[in-house]
Order: sequence, then C-alpha cells, then structure tokens
Amino acid sequence: MIDDPSLLVLLDDAPAAISVQRGPELRWEMANARFRGLLGGRVIVGRTLAEVLPDWSQLRRIVEEVHKSGTPYSAHEQRFLIDPAGTGALVDGYFDIVCQPLRENGAITGVLSFAVDVTAQVEARKRLESIANELRQAVDARDEFLSVASHELKTPLTALRLQVQSLQRSVTRAPDAQFSPEQLRARFDAADRQVQRLVELIDTLLDVSRLHGGADVVDRARAMASANGSSLTLESPPELRARLDGSRIDQIVSNLLSNAIKYGRGKPVTVHLGIDRQPSGSRATITVSDEGIGIAAEDHARIFERFERAVSRTHYAGLGLGLWISRQIAEALGGTLTLESDLGKGARFTLSLPL
Ligand code: ADP
Repeated sequence: MIDDPSLLVLLDDAPAAISVQRGPELRWEMANARFRGLLGGRVIVGRTLAEVLPDWSQLRRIVEEVHKSGTPYSAHEQRFLIDPAGTGALVDGYFDIVCQPLRENGAITGVLSFAVDVTAQVEARKRLESIANELRQAVDARDEFLSVASHELKTPLTALRLQVQSLQRSVTRAPDAQFSPEQLRARFDAADRQVQRLVELIDTLLDVSRLHGGADVVDRARAMASANGSSLTLESPPELRARLDGSRIDQIVSNLLSNAIKYGRGKPVTVHLGIDRQPSGSRATITVSDEGIGIAAEDHARIFERFERAVSRTHYAGLGLGLWISRQIAEALGGTLTLESDLGKGARFTLSLPL
C-alpha cells in the first residue's frame, strides 16, 4: 500500500496513467487521474479487473498475463481502445507502457502498470507519413506526366524537322530550281499541320494546371469540325445559353467536341443543351454526341483516368488527359460527366450541372 499523502498527490498528478491491482482477482488498489481518465473517470478502485474491463480488452490480457507469468511487459506505441468520454464510444489510443509484477516474499501479489499517452505524437507522425505519401504520389504523377508530355511533343516536332530538312535539301541541291506555288503550298501546309498539333498539345498541357476562358466554344469547334469534314449542330433552348456561359464549362465542352471530331470519322456531331427537371432540383445538361469509332464498355471507366486511352497512338495522337481534366472540372462544379457508347457505334458524353 502507498500511504504517504504527498506521494499519493504526486502519483495522482503524474503525466502518466498509473494503476496497481492486487490479490488473486486483481482488485484495483490505486488508479491515478490519468488512468481513470482513460475509462471516462469511472470509479474503479476496489473493483476487480474482470468487473471493469471486458475480456477482449488488451490491457486486461496484459495485466493477467504479467500476473500469471511474473514476467514484466513493456511496449512502445501499444494501441489500446480507450473510453475517455465514458460513453462506451471507444477510440484508439497509443501508449508507451510498462507492466511489472509486484512481489512479496517471492510470491506475486499484484501488478503495477505505468503508461505514457503518445497518441498525439503517433497521430502527428501518421499525418506526416500520409502527407509524405501524397507528395511522393504527386511527384510520381508529375514524372509520368512529363515523360508522356515530352514523348507526345517530340512526335510533331520530329515531323516538322523532317519537313524543314527536306526543304533545305531541295534548295541546296538545286538552288535555282523554281518550286511551283502548289508544291510550296503543300509543303507549308504539311509543316503547318505539325505546328497546329504542337499548339493543341501545348494547350492541353497548360489546361492541366490552368483553366482558360474564351470565345464561344461551339463556334470555335464548328471551324474545327468543318476542317475534319464533320458538321456540327447545336440544339439549345434559348434561355440556357446565357446561363451556361462559363469558362470552365467552355473548357469541358471544347474537350468533348474536339474528341467527337477527332474520333468521329467525319460524321455529324451534335451538341444538345437541355434542362433536366428533377424533384431534387433542376440540372442543365450538355450532351455531345458523335457517330464515330465509339468506346467498348470495358474502357468506359478507364478513359476518365489520367493518361488512359482506348486507341493506339499511331492512329490518333493525344495525351489521354482531356476527359480526366473535364471530369475533374465537372465534379468541382458539383456536376457529373458520363458516357454512353459501344464500340463502333459513336459516343455520347453528358455533362450535367446543378442549376
Ligand atoms: P486523348 O483524346 O488525348 O487521348 P481524352 O482524355 O480526351 O484524351 O480521351 C481519352 C480516350 O477516350 C481517347 O484516347 C479515346 O480512346 C477515348 N475517347 C474520348 N472521346 C471519344 C469519342 N468521342 N469517341 C471515341 N473514343 C473517345
């Protein structure tokens, strides 16, 4: 028994959870303020270990084992379920703990436990570990992004360089040769196409971190569509146009339109604006449909991920970022971007936004 009053006060105020159990039933002889706090401040002195702690309790098992075996127990950052509020709503706590058998004349008469609460440190460390993990993932994503981007940028640059070199060779070989306007136009057109591709790629790359606003998407896309041989139709209730004029929506629709044109096999493309009135609230919907190559069901989820594509690089250039960016923006606006499509049967992307 500890009966010195100043020692009892010191033990009660100690910045560690201290308890002593005695006798064959391990009846609590003392439990300081910290220890009682872990059990919601319940009165435990005088009660047995089995009365206070359920049989699955980690602490109960440790104390019983030390009592039975006489072997001290110690652990660093041991996890316990504690009940600090005393409501039975258990939470995780981490402790550096020591349990010592108490002996009299060689016989074990009880158990002393001493536990320092290190929950705050463990949780802070876990938070740091998870931030470090996120940072590592961000760095990996950046590296992957840079390698895909540099590979994609090199393709049109190499083609452009070949065209310039071939022009140089022609001029060097026959300095006085006259090129017909058609020949010159064909060569410059070819070079211009590569420059255009570079511009588009750089636009996509910049979109990843910067959202650009701008002119009427549909008008811009109409020019692009006619260059690709597709026609573009806009179906829209008039009152909706003004309301939906946002640069972020512009960016999503321009991604969907350029895909519809790129993968649309030159067939008509339709943009439909509508209002979907639901009891939960009205939503504006923008549907971009094409009659192009379509997307197999097993690729529907994947193509919205970063760098994921369902076509070969040799047939269609691209970074696999447009749909990922578009869905990120749609979700940031509280909306959704969904897809209906079958391989070979065109694709229909629907952007739905709360009004
Ligand atoms: P990118 O077009 O640069 O590859 P996206 O993220 O915009 O990147 O598209 C991802 C993939 O989804 C494309 O590579 C293509 O396989 C598929 N896809 C997107 N839009 C269409 C569409 N309208 N028709 C068919 N396939 C499409």
